Amino acid sequence: MFKGILIEKDEAGYRAAVRDIDDAQLPEGDVTVRVSHSTLNYKDALAITGKGPVVRKFPMVPGVDLVGTVEASSHSAYKPGDSVVLNGWGVGEVHWGGLAQKARLNGEWLVPLPAQFTPQQAMAIGTAGYTAMLCVLALERHGVTPDKGEILVTGAAGGVGSVAVSVLSKLGYTVVGVSGRPEESDYVKSLGASEVLDRSLFSSAGKPLGRERWAGAVDVVGSHTLANVCATTSYRGVVTACGLAGGMDFPSSVAPFILRGVTLAGVDSVMCPRPDRLVAWQRLGQDLDLAKLGLITNEIGLGEAIAVASQLLEGKVRGRVVVDVN
Ligand code: NDP
Repeated sequence: MFKGILIEKDEAGYRAAVRDIDDAQLPEGDVTVRVSHSTLNYKDALAITGKGPVVRKFPMVPGVDLVGTVEASSHSAYKPGDSVVLNGWGVGEVHWGGLAQKARLNGEWLVPLPAQFTPQQAMAIGTAGYTAMLCVLALERHGVTPDKGEILVTGAAGGVGSVAVSVLSKLGYTVVGVSGRPEESDYVKSLGASEVLDRSLFSSAGKPLGRERWAGAVDVVGSHTLANVCATTSYRGVVTACGLAGGMDFPSSVAPFILRGVTLAGVDSVMCPRPDRLVAWQRLGQDLDLAKLGLITNEIGLGEAIAVASQLLEGKVRGRVVVDVN
C-alpha cells in the first residue's frame, strides 16, 4: 500500500482526497518509481479542484511532474536505484501521476535526473520551469538576443513567470515583469526584473497596434493580455505563448503579424519530443541560478496539496510549489 491523492468522479460528484492505494491498482507500465517529490502546477490545481477539464480518466492520481528512484524496471534504459524525472506526457491527465508515493510509467517518458539538481530542485523547476526554458529556447531560435531590447514576462510572480525572469536575466536580457500583485514586485525584481508593470495595463481590450516596446515576450496569461503583448511587440519581435491563466481566447488582430512581422511562437511541454526536453534540462542546469531557485520554491506535504491547489487558482501562490509525498 502507498499514499496518494486520488481524484474520483461519480454520482457523488467530483472529489480529491489523500487515500491508501494498493500496489495492484497501479496502471500498466514498464518502470515502477518510488516517488520522492512532485509539484503543483496550474494544471494540477485545475485537476484537483475540478475547475478545468484536465482529468480524462477516473479514478486518477494527479501530478504532471515527479522525481524518484526506480524500484523495478523491464525497460532497457533503467534499472532499480536510478534517479529519474518525469514531466507531462499526459501523466496526471490520462495516466496516474506524481502526487503519490509510487508511480508506474512508460520508461520512454522518463529522463535521468540531471546531475546538477537535487530531487527537490528538479521539482522546484518542474513542468513550469521546464516550460519557461522552452520559451527561452524559442526566443533564441527566432533570433532574440539580449541586445535586441526588453523582454516582457507576464504572470511574473507565478511558476513559469518566476523561472522565466530568473533565466532571462541570468542570460543578460533586460526583463520587464507583469504582475497583478504589487506586493510581489520586490520578489520579481529580486529574480532579475528591471521593472514590474501592473497587470491592469494589459488585461482589457486594447488597440490592434500600440507603441513598439518588446523585443520578445513570455506569456502565460492568454486572452487580452496576449493580444496587447503582441500589439506592443517591436518590429520582428517574438512572443512565446504557453498559458491561459487569464483565458483561452485570443481577441487580437493580424496587424502585429502582417505589419510588424511579429512571430507568435506556441510552446507546449506535454508532448514535447525527448531530444528537446533533454536540451531544456541541460540548459536549466547551465542558465538557472540555484540561489534564485531557492527564492522561488515553497515545499509542502501531500496532505496540504489539496488546499494549496485552490490557493494557486486564486493567484495567491508565489513561485513554485514542491510536494514532498512521503
Ligand atoms: P501559476 O498559477 O503559478 O502562475 C500563473 C500566474 O499568472 C499567476 O501567478 C499570476 O501572476 C498570473 N495570473 C493568474 N490569473 C491571471 C489573470 N486572470 N489575469 C492575468 N494574470 C493572471 O501557474 P503556472 O506558472 O504553473 O502556469 C501558468 C500558465 O502556463 C497556466 O495557464 C498553465 O496552464 C500554463 N502552462 C502551460 C504549459 C504548456 O506546456 N504550454 C506548461 C506549464 C504551464 P501574477 O500574480 O504575477 O499576476
